[in-house]
Amino acid sequence: MKKGEFLYEGKAKRLYKTDHPDVLWLEYKDDATAFNGQKRASLTGKGQLNNAISSWFFTLLSRHGIQHHFLDTVSDREQLVRPVTILPLEVVVRAIAAGSLCRRLGLAEGTKLPHVLVEWYYKDDALGDPLVTEDHIALLQLATPVQLAFMKDQALQIHTILQQALEPKGIVLVDFKLEFGLDANGRLMLADEISPDTCRFWDAASGKKMDKDRFRQDLGGTLEGYQEILERLGGGANV
Ligand code: 5GP
Repeated sequence: MKKGEFLYEGKAKRLYKTDHPDVLWLEYKDDATAFNGQKRASLTGKGQLNNAISSWFFTLLSRHGIQHHFLDTVSDREQLVRPVTILPLEVVVRAIAAGSLCRRLGLAEGTKLPHVLVEWYYKDDALGDPLVTEDHIALLQLATPVQLAFMKDQALQIHTILQQALEPKGIVLVDFKLEFGLDANGRLMLADEISPDTCRFWDAASGKKMDKDRFRQDLGGTLEGYQEILERLGGGANV
C-alpha cells in the first residue's frame, strides 16, 4: 500500500489517498488544540501516542463486532482507514459529570450520573459546536431518525465495551466523543479516533486526569498522561 495524494488536514490528523480506492492513509499530528482552536501547541510525540491508543481501541471494538473505519496501523503515527463521509455530529457519551455538562447544568465535577447520557453536538466551528436536540438535527437534516437510533445504540454499546476494558486497568472512563461516517454504500459506521484527545480518563485510585484536560486546564504533564494510558493498555501490544 502506497501513501498517495494529500486530501485534507484537520486539527489533529492529515488524510491522504492510497493506491487503493477503498483505503485512505491517516496521519496523526503532534498538534494540540482546545477551545475551538483558540489554544494551540505542538506536543512532540502526541501523534504517536494517539495512533497507538486509537488503534488499540478500534481493535478492541472489532473483537466486539462494532463496525468502524480503522483497518490497520502502518507506522508509529499512521494508520489505514476506510473512506467515509463524516456526519456533522459529535456524539458525546457521559457516565460522570465533567466539562461542559458541569458548566451547563451546575453539577459538581465527578458526580456519577444515574444513567449513561448520550448528547448530540452540531460540528460547526463558526457556531462553536452547539448542543442540539433530535428536533434540531431533523430541522437541519444532519441525520435521519434511523441513523440517530443506530448511533445512540452503538454509542451505548461502545461505552460498555470501553468501560469494561478500562476498569481492570484502573482507568475511569468519564466521557468521550464519537464521530460516525457513511461509506460508499451508505453504511454508517464509527470513524475518527478514540484517544485521550477525545475521551476523559481519570486514574481510579487518585482521580488524576490523564487526558486532554491536562492541556486544556494547563495542568502540565499532558503527554505523561497519554503515555500512562498507553502503558496501562499494554503498550499497544495486547488488547
Ligand atoms: P465536553 O462537552 O465536556 O467539553 O466534552 C465531552 C467529551 O467529548 C470529552 O471527553 C471531550 O474530550 C470530548 N469532546 C467534545 N468535543 C470535542 C472536540 O471538539 N474535540 C475533541 N477532541 N474532543 C471533544
